[in-house]
Amino acid sequence: MEQQQVNVTINGKKIQAPNALTVIQAVWHAGGTQVEGVGCLEGVCGSCRVMVKRANSPTVETQLGCQTLIEDGMQVIFLGFPSPTHHRYQLSDIQNSWESYAYFHHIFPEAKHCRMCHGCNVSCPKGIDVEQVVYLATKGRFRQAGKLFVECVMCNLCMTACPENIAPNHVGLFCRRVIPYFYLRPSNLISRLEEIRQGKHTINLD
Ligand code: SF4
Ligand code: SF4
Repeated sequence: MEQQQVNVTINGKKIQAPNALTVIQAVWHAGGTQVEGVGCLEGVCGSCRVMVKRANSPTVETQLGCQTLIEDGMQVIFLGFPSPTHHRYQLSDIQNSWESYAYFHHIFPEAKHCRMCHGCNVSCPKGIDVEQVVYLATKGRFRQAGKLFVECVMCNLCMTACPENIAPNHVGLFCRRVIPYFYLRPSNLISRLEEIRQGKHTINLD
């Protein structure tokens, strides 16, 4: 397909670049040396959060810069912000799985105040139903919630969008972690690790 030159504005700078480039590639194409907010370039690490305003749309979306192709008239701002969360915990502090429900609400007391405002869903560049994850977690349905959260790249956009300070991405991460912590790992993994322990496989760490 023939490439067209398009005009975009990225971080306030006007750039002309081929339309087959992503936002990050367009910055580099224009001689930019952007290294902050750049990571895996494959939509996995969540570092390259951007706000995008397209020429033919009145709305502003949040996307990943490495996954967003530039368009004529597009305006882009890289989002850089600290991402602390006060929701700190150790799974080893949970005495047994019966305690996990109460422990969750102890660590995430704001979760039950979710307004169902969709802010997290709208901000998520991976299209995760974050709001449902939070809802399921508050009901102790951690397994179901964790399954919805597989694609999360911990970009923190949902945390920034949440008016209740819930840190919904950390809610999802808790769900992903607590299930394997209390349940048996997959049998094929257990048997393979046992074979390694018995010296049936040599591992060359070099
Ligand atoms: S759930 Fe939150 S942290 Fe995870 S990808 Fe979506 S917006 Fe980013
Ligand atoms: S942004 Fe926060 S309050 Fe709104 S739906 Fe998501 S978790 Fe609930």
